[in-house]
Amino acid sequence: MKFLRFVLLAACLATLLPALPAHAARLRVVATVPTLAQLAREVAGADADVEALLAPNQDPHYADAKPSLVIALNRADLLLFNGLDLEVGWLPALVRQARNAKLLPGAAGSFDASRWVQKLRVPASVDRAQGDIHPGGNPHFSWDPRAGAAVAEGLGTALGQLDPEHAAAFRQRGATLAQQLRALAGQERQKFAALTPAQRQVAVYHDSLVYLLDWLGLQQVATIEPRPGIPPDPAHLARVVGQLKAAHVAALLQEEYYPRNASDQVARLTGARLVVLQAGPRDRTDYVSYVRGLAAEIYAVQSSK
Ligand SMILES: [Zn+2]
Repeated sequence: MKFLRFVLLAACLATLLPALPAHAARLRVVATVPTLAQLAREVAGADADVEALLAPNQDPHYADAKPSLVIALNRADLLLFNGLDLEVGWLPALVRQARNAKLLPGAAGSFDASRWVQKLRVPASVDRAQGDIHPGGNPHFSWDPRAGAAVAEGLGTALGQLDPEHAAAFRQRGATLAQQLRALAGQERQKFAALTPAQRQVAVYHDSLVYLLDWLGLQQVATIEPRPGIPPDPAHLARVVGQLKAAHVAALLQEEYYPRNASDQVARLTGARLVVLQAGPRDRTDYVSYVRGLAAEIYAVQSSK
């Protein structure tokens, strides 16, 4: 019902919007998630305006389809989205409502970040009964600075195509950021490699940290959700508790937007520490510092084991 009401409201708004003036000289970039927005800010510099549709405490699988999001999309020159079906439940409908041909799939203003990324966990077959499985691969790559580097380079090129006057600056900033991110990725990976195998085991809430764990060489020994998007029942939780105890897992990782009661319970029963990860930089923290902070938080717990 909420969605229907929104569709009607958005349709009314969209009929009003074409009367607004086209964008000024500076490009307008709209990113779905805060991490991608921050990447775009750093590649764009002062040559484009960037805004995020979601806040770090919002689960990107779902979004409240607010009219303000339709308005932002209507005025955008570039839509930067994660892809791999992460936003499939809400973004296509918003883009249709926004009536902005620049952002339609295949247009120069539609930037699917996942196209630049090396994908993990591409399933051999897809069965929706298995939970919110993403058929193109696991979409949660924005935790991984190696993926961030590839996206920064891609953005540097894409922004330059929309605004050729600043193309060299976009490309340069994209390349510089990519270089910093790859250097950071290497340093942190080395640091974690010095831990013992037992210290490199973690548990997670949603199956969403595979890129982060792959980067840091960590092993996922248990997952609180039995299948992506499906909350755990008591039998599954008991199994998870057993797995954590057997492996003496130090850290249970989850994003801030997932419920914490099951994780708190598991942590209490096993002595593992619940590490709630911030799903995106806040207060304009730069992307390199944000990712370094994530690694430091996990390292502190794992190395103390
Ligand atoms: Zn997911």
